[in-house]
Amino acid sequence: MLSSPARHSTDRTDVIVVGAGVAGLAAARRLTDAGLGVTVLEAAPYVGGRMSTDKVDGFRLDRTAHFLTPSSAELRRTPGLEKLALRPLSHGVLVRQGGRSQRFAESRGARGPLTAARALASAARSPLGGALDQARVASFLNRLAAMPAERVLARPEVPTAQALGTRGLPSRTVECFLRPLLTALLSDPELTTSSRCADLALQAFARERLSVPTGGASTVPELMAAALPSGTVRTGVRAVSASTTSVDTAEHGQLACRAVVVATGARAAADLLPGLRLPAFHPTTVLHHTADAPPMAEPALVVDGDRQGPVSHTIVVTAADRSRAPHGRTLVTSVVLGDAASEPLTTLDKAARAHLGELYGTQADGWQLVTAHHDPEAVPAMRAPHDRRRPVRVLAGLYVCGDHRDTSTVQGAIVSGGRAASAALRDFGLPDAGTPAALPTAA
Ligand SMILES: Cc1cc2nc3c(=O)[nH]c(=O)nc-3n(C[C@H](O)[C@H](O)[C@H](O)COP(=O)(O)OP(=O)(O)OC[C@H]3O[C@@H](n4cnc5c(N)ncnc54)[C@H](O)[C@@H]3O)c2cc1C
Repeated sequence: MLSSPARHSTDRTDVIVVGAGVAGLAAARRLTDAGLGVTVLEAAPYVGGRMSTDKVDGFRLDRTAHFLTPSSAELRRTPGLEKLALRPLSHGVLVRQGGRSQRFAESRGARGPLTAARALASAARSPLGGALDQARVASFLNRLAAMPAERVLARPEVPTAQALGTRGLPSRTVECFLRPLLTALLSDPELTTSSRCADLALQAFARERLSVPTGGASTVPELMAAALPSGTVRTGVRAVSASTTSVDTAEHGQLACRAVVVATGARAAADLLPGLRLPAFHPTTVLHHTADAPPMAEPALVVDGDRQGPVSHTIVVTAADRSRAPHGRTLVTSVVLGDAASEPLTTLDKAARAHLGELYGTQADGWQLVTAHHDPEAVPAMRAPHDRRRPVRVLAGLYVCGDHRDTSTVQGAIVSGGRAASAALRDFGLPDAGTPAALPTAA
């Protein structure tokens, strides 16, 4: 056990947390709540990591297009996020296929009974199968929403692509709805992700509306940082090595402490903690275009049922949150996945605008690219079998957290931060409100 620090330290550092993404900020909050003195070191000049928002010419531009966060109730239970303002997107998802759009959503009981005549009539009209397939999807999503998590997790774990045919949906619905939606939810066009992670993502989608944080993704880490004791976070400080009792920094030499939590992304964590397994990654490019007029009035997640262009999914983000663009401007945010994400930007932008024109049924040639953000290591892959509770305790005094220890989501990162803090508190012999059951050693 580590020697107990004085309770409620304010002017000393018991624990250094390296990285001010949501994982590090969640860990810092749990540790300060227990009375420890905590310093969070962040290499960038701002907090947030992958949840950063660039402010350019009156636009608020997320680096990571955070509109697939259905766990708003859970997020608001995170200390510091009680007052987080989220703007909901339209129900379900709009699938664009063969020049037509069709909404697939859980049933809200508002559409009235589906008669055989109505189903057959619309099936004949639509390449996606019409009302019958919509009803099947609604019933599939309703069943999944009601399913206890243990039952979801008891299903065989295989690559998602392999599980698609076993979910009781016709193959055209799988190809036009399920595959593009899961691609968007998992940032994984090959669907190599564990089917359990995919089912959990779909379940969250079925249970709650997608939403975007008002003002941009960075609102989330900014609120979390603001809820920490003043002076806890030091930006512009890069850790170059870490041990159980100190962190060497590029700017300020060695900083002493009694424990260290490494809360960086997976690659930086593997550099600071040699021996830590490095996952594969899904690359992404996020494109922000501005247009004179909105191509669509509603804030709907649009996915490509034809999968014939570089854009995986897109929304008119200003339709959900007006604060994202200057007065009179429209902001369309789109995500490119897989190999296309690595295309040179001029080629990608041209192809994306042509594709966006098809997806929105409009002319997008004149849209202007405000900015693009490419991240070759955007999302840690969650291949089957995926351990959603990877160890966070390296040894007494040294801990690791981040989305690569849990699920590759905001929620996963926050949970991992809490687990790492719990492990440290246990080693300090301090009480903790949410201690996890087991603390195996990290690998
Ligand atoms: C395009 C895209 C879309 C996404 N969409 C969603 C979504 O809709 N919903 C969802 O739930 N999740 C989404 N995610 C995933 C989510 O953004 C991440 O899982 C989450 O933000 C990871 O948080 P983290 O704290 O683990 O890591 P990070 O945010 O990467 O934070 C790590 C921090 O450590 C800092 N750091 C690194 N090295 C050092 C060092 N040596 N010294 C000091 N500081 C250092 C970094 O600067 C960074 O601030 C998306 C990700 C991407 C890329």
